[in-house]
Amino acid sequence: MTQPASDFIRQRIKQDLDSGLVEGAIVTRFPPEPNGYLHIGHAKSICLNFGVAEEFGGYTYLRFDDTNPLKESDTYVEAIQQDVAWLGFEWSDRLTNASDYFDALYARAVELIDGGKAYVCSLTGEEIRQSRGTLTEPGKESPYRGRSVEENRELFERMRAGEFADGEQVLRAKIDMASPNINMRDPVLYRIRHATHQRTGDKWVIYPMYDFTHCICDALEGITHSLCTLEFEDHRPLYDWVLDNINMNFHPPQIEFSRLGLEYTVLSKRLLSQLVTQGLVEGWDDPRMPTLAGLRRRGVTPGAIREFCRRVGVTKQDNRVEMSLLEFCIRRDLEGTVRRGMGVLNPLKVRISNYRDDGEVLEGPWHAQNPDLGRRELPFGAELYIEREDFTDAPPKKWRRLSPGALVRLRYAYIIRCDEVVRDARGEIQELVCSYIPESKSGSDTSGLKPNGVVHWVAADTAVAVEIRLYGRLFKVPDPGAATLVDDIDPASLTIRSGYVEPAIHHSDDDHFQFERLGYFFRDPERANTYNRTVSLRDSWKPG
Ligand code: ATP
Ligand code: MG
Repeated sequence: MTQPASDFIRQRIKQDLDSGLVEGAIVTRFPPEPNGYLHIGHAKSICLNFGVAEEFGGYTYLRFDDTNPLKESDTYVEAIQQDVAWLGFEWSDRLTNASDYFDALYARAVELIDGGKAYVCSLTGEEIRQSRGTLTEPGKESPYRGRSVEENRELFERMRAGEFADGEQVLRAKIDMASPNINMRDPVLYRIRHATHQRTGDKWVIYPMYDFTHCICDALEGITHSLCTLEFEDHRPLYDWVLDNINMNFHPPQIEFSRLGLEYTVLSKRLLSQLVTQGLVEGWDDPRMPTLAGLRRRGVTPGAIREFCRRVGVTKQDNRVEMSLLEFCIRRDLEGTVRRGMGVLNPLKVRISNYRDDGEVLEGPWHAQNPDLGRRELPFGAELYIEREDFTDAPPKKWRRLSPGALVRLRYAYIIRCDEVVRDARGEIQELVCSYIPESKSGSDTSGLKPNGVVHWVAADTAVAVEIRLYGRLFKVPDPGAATLVDDIDPASLTIRSGYVEPAIHHSDDDHFQFERLGYFFRDPERANTYNRTVSLRDSWKPG
């Protein structure tokens, strides 16, 4: 089913193997910062990194980029591991942290100082920003740029020893304040943060910056292809500069690909975190969130996400993918294997006046096209619920459902006719009085009648009352922005219904179901008797 993808990265890797540039195993890494939950954009990177290592024979490090203790936490570290494993990828014993290399990184910084390639700068953060210049103007050299190696060593040592307050000093690379690439204008390599780190505790009060850390960790781990997203393209010269200016005999190539964007949602941990902290969603695993935890809770399968990433592909073009592609992949993954039963979202009572309730139990297959899924019992009764939308007393042309005098088949049961509509004082339909055709039982129908259509139902006395949660898009617009985040939220993105499911669904060991004609549903792992709609059905279920 899944053709191995061929994209420019895979072609490059193949070339590197064919030419002998890379000998032996392909080594990649996925380097999340543990400052939030993973989203479907990360899945693209995970599928790529772990995918190519699997395909070409190699392995992948799961490396936490834990260089900012102020924003990071163990909760996220655990959630990220859970999500990567859930997607179906294994790092076995290759779980590392940037913090594992703090000693090595410190030594490398000293090496740069000794080579006259780094200096301690005592400008404030604001002054550094001001002197950085712009795209059209060069930056200004720091007055501390000419410090001697000895002075720099001593100051850096004192930074490490905790003698300075946050922001008082930084270590900067000495590169070129006139570089057209702003990242090369003496970037900061180390900063002071008096903060307890989740792994190293209070051992360090200076922390290395991402651009300094990442390339060295890649080299130390022997990463053969360092794959990252396009926003790092302008950082590549710095990645290379660091490795070229320390004594390191391994230099991974950094290769960039485009970020995944998805319509009607945001893929940025910062914005997703804002939704959580402002209480705009229930949490990181709210089923409307594009996080892997949210998608999982909604009932999306790992297979659907992997297939989605495969179809999106890997290019250098920035793109915002349509939600319908993800939905297509979800349905495709569920359609052949998930049990199909009946649930009613918006119940309307049907009383069958000529039916004598004697505990009759009907039955039907769990999946009409997949007999492997077996069959289930379907208790019938004199009182049923059908979907309110399946009845009208003013039927339009070609109405295939129930209306006064019309015949419909109850799925896997009998044909019924609507004889009477009972209304309450306000004129709302309260129940339908129908009669059933005894000879029309599904499978042994001798009635010769042609019903209008087929509708789903549950028997009132055996159905299980459940909460059904329907989800729409979290945002009203395809490209919600940071500035309008709150206004762009669609208040109709969650609808809660009190409905019913047939008992066999309730008692089944499965968590995924299709409720016929309504979509795919998933039992909420956190809330009893609640079903989340994973995705609706594209094609409305054909009668017959
Ligand atoms: P965010 O902007 O959501 O905070 P990030 O890039 O800061 O994302 P990291 O934890 O640093 O988050 O990401 C780990 C890896 O995942 C990085 O290599 C990054 O390039 C990749 N990644 C993040 N978002 C996407 C995306 N939308 N599409 C593809 N890859 C992504
Ligand atoms: Mg990042």
